[in-house]
Amino acid sequence: MYCRNCGHFLAEGAKFCGACGAQVGDFRLAPPKPQKQFPTGALVGVLLGLLGFVGALILLTGDDDELIYAGVALLVVSLILAVSGLVGFGKQIR
Ligand SMILES: [Zn+2]
Repeated sequence: MYCRNCGHFLAEGAKFCGACGAQVGDFRLAPPKPQKQFPTGALVGVLLGLLGFVGALILLTGDDDELIYAGVALLVVSLILAVSGLVGFGKQIR
């Protein structure tokens, strides 16, 4: 085989090129290409946001004033979560 760096003939099993000193790499040992990571965190954010949104709607339909306040707070938090999740999701896809 021949050196990938300079083309010098290499002895079978040689670890380094005798001419240029480059390491003789095995193509099969090349590090795998980084795979596109699924934006799990963003997805969790969106799902939590949706969950909070549903929970907020349930609280808002109640008669108890305190529950309605809690529902409004939950609605705001869930919207922030969902929006930030969607933004993260969009960034990962691009
Ligand atoms: Zn070489």
